[in-house]
Amino acid sequence: SAHARKPLRGFWKLNPQTKEEALTFASGIASAITDSTPDFDVALFVPYVFIESTMSVVGGKLSVGAEVRASFPHSSGAYTGGISTSMIKSVGVDWVLAGHSERREIFGETDYYINAQPTSPGACATQLKKGLKGVRKEDLDRVAIAYEPVWAIGTGKVATPEIAQSLHAKCRDILAGMYGQETANMIRILYGGSVTPDNIDDLMAMPDIDGALVSGASLDINKFGINWVKS
Ligand code: PEP
Repeated sequence: SAHARKPLRGFWKLNPQTKEEALTFASGIASAITDSTPDFDVALFVPYVFIESTMSVVGGKLSVGAEVRASFPHSSGAYTGGISTSMIKSVGVDWVLAGHSERREIFGETDYYINAQPTSPGACATQLKKGLKGVRKEDLDRVAIAYEPVWAIGTGKVATPEIAQSLHAKCRDILAGMYGQETANMIRILYGGSVTPDNIDDLMAMPDIDGALVSGASLDINKFGINWVKS
């Protein structure tokens, strides 16, 4: 990959249940990240209610992101329960996770919501064109794409590195058609779906797999962040 630092993204889904637990996880993960893990650029996406306290315990060792993007294209108004991008940004959050298959299937989010404000999108492979619509070339360094086979999510069935690689290469081809090959080579494409310390090295060895998006293993401080990189 053109990026020396591999993006590693953890997110918690509807876990954990209390702030105390969240902070225990977060500080455990942060303390496991040392100077000998320089290849990974780590971010943890957490439920809204834990964002600020998580930021305060990780002490800049990793980025904290919002687990769900802003739910509306509107920045203010009569949208009870909505969270806007400006709200998220104002507490110091740089990343949002957008377009997860669970948001689409369970919460009914469409591409319209996912790419409501094109300065902070994310996208799955099959939604690349819609997800990145209106996103300028110069903003792509603030975007990471996650390719996740739905059958691999939370199932313990990881894609083989070869299959994942071929899909990542396809995604990059689509991106090359949209932005040109040189730009496409710079875009970070993360693999997601049952990533663990046991399988991450083989995945990362593939030329078009630039990083990982991880949920289950990010709830285990003995797994996430610690054992990913052999230094
Ligand atoms: C996911 O939900 O997108 C995911 C990758 O989950 P897990 O790591 O638990 O398979």
